[in-house]
Amino acid sequence: MVDLASLERDMIAWRRDLHAYPEFGFEEKRTSSFVAAKLREFGFDDVAEGIGGTGVVGTLKRGSGNRSIALRADMDALRIAEQGTIAYRSRNAGLMHACGHDGHTTMLLGAAKLLAEEGGFDGTVRFLFQPAEEWGKGALAMLGDGLMERFPFEEIYGLHNMPGQPVGHFATRAGSIMSAEDNFEIVLKGVGGHAARPHWGNETLVAACALVTNLQTIVSRRLNPTDIGVVSVTELITDGTRNALPGLARILGDARSFQPEISTEIEKQMRIIAAGTALSYNVTAEVTYTREFVPLLNDATLVDQAFAAARSVFDADHIATAREPMTASEDFARFLDHVPGCFVFVGNGKESAPLHNPNYDFNDAGLLFGTRFHAAIVRQRLPSLSGDGKITVHHGME
Ligand SMILES: [Zn+2]
Ligand SMILES: [Zn+2]
Repeated sequence: MVDLASLERDMIAWRRDLHAYPEFGFEEKRTSSFVAAKLREFGFDDVAEGIGGTGVVGTLKRGSGNRSIALRADMDALRIAEQGTIAYRSRNAGLMHACGHDGHTTMLLGAAKLLAEEGGFDGTVRFLFQPAEEWGKGALAMLGDGLMERFPFEEIYGLHNMPGQPVGHFATRAGSIMSAEDNFEIVLKGVGGHAARPHWGNETLVAACALVTNLQTIVSRRLNPTDIGVVSVTELITDGTRNALPGLARILGDARSFQPEISTEIEKQMRIIAAGTALSYNVTAEVTYTREFVPLLNDATLVDQAFAAARSVFDADHIATAREPMTASEDFARFLDHVPGCFVFVGNGKESAPLHNPNYDFNDAGLLFGTRFHAAIVRQRLPSLSGDGKITVHHGME
């Protein structure tokens, strides 16, 4: 049996090492080498590097079972300058593990070591270390690189740390749990000119201001009130100057929703409002609408399985159904286009700085919880048969 106290000490060292050398999406060279070296050190049968750029897939087989499941962690950091003064703070200027992916990678490595040494399951486990979660491109890159054909699996699990939720607390929910993220850009074109003679042209700034206001009616007036949507304008840029009216205005923003139909409806209403507003100001509008992240929809049956596995790791009264989905997005959703899965939240502590904050740090006290949850779901979904034909389910620390 693996000594959990010594595994935890190792994991804290790995996590702080990863934290000190954060790497941006698709640039996780040091991180993926670190991951691959560890998996080999744990005696993995098969470690594939360079999957979808910098992704790593480790495969562990035990027994004769032909079922397979995947566990996934993300490895990338953010372009944020760390403000904390911890000894292991970022050595890479302008880059920081501000979303705890250093912790996620470490928790999955811990589970890899635990399962490689102890077994306690029958079948195949794929350990997916994905690049570029933050900009929603890494999962698609791995899938595009033949992930499902080369390393097939039938279901997938992943987790994210959650500031504000105490360490040792677990939450998930069936159905929508993380939102879609759509981006949009609306370009208004008119005729700029002298600030003192607006009637000589068709300037775009007043039209843009009206459009920003009109866009607020998508959620408030055009969606069913029981549906959830967010439309946020985040930038308004013109080519005007102190005494010259702009002939060009660009409006950029971000929309969130939890159902593909809502995303479709937001785009449709945005196009109607942009065209109508532009017409009324005698300018033109061109809308570009892109889908960066799809909504993350948990499979109800596998959510029950995740709760059952969680009961062998977390105190019963620390396990909860997440009250509402979160309007942030997760690249994990892309895997769910191929197989059912479940994504869960584990506490990063009540005192934790928010995700993507320059003072954020992953809480090492949560490491073993995530590792043991990964191992528990594997042993539950791929139970091993003991000699007498009885199913043995290992629960780790009991
Ligand atoms: Zn993030
Ligand atoms: Zn994240």
